[in-house]
Amino acid sequence: MIRNVEHIGIAVRSIEEARGFYEALGLTVDHIEEVPDEGVRVAFIPCGNTRFELLEPTRPDSPVAKFLAKRGPGIHHVCVESDAIDEDDARLRREGVELIRERPSPGAGGARVQFVHPKATGGILLELSQPPEGAAAAHSAAGGRSAR
Ligand code: ZN
Repeated sequence: MIRNVEHIGIAVRSIEEARGFYEALGLTVDHIEEVPDEGVRVAFIPCGNTRFELLEPTRPDSPVAKFLAKRGPGIHHVCVESDAIDEDDARLRREGVELIRERPSPGAGGARVQFVHPKATGGILLELSQPPEGAAAAHSAAGGRSAR
């Protein structure tokens, strides 16, 4: 089942340059981690019961680097939290929805994630994310998840 908007992913050329605005807004970067498989560094910025996720490419052939080259900085994806991602994945497949990954697989923060093609969603890349076992369903503003 799908619950809240877990985060909004924003493609940036540089986390160091982009974070200043969010800090001026009064928000705080919770932690930064690298996801080598995706070729990105990710900065998590809690905001109420959701968060911003700034995505900075670490290599020129990464999906986020290609997005930046084509469209410039901006909203890269929206993520909704799933409490049963295998069931959601299977249901979407039955409905004929185009998914990006063959099956839900590891993403940032130990979550298991799947992506839905923008063709199916009205034009946005949609991420489904199931938090790791034991993680709070809704992360706190203090940052319920620690950096690796
Ligand atoms: Zn994301």
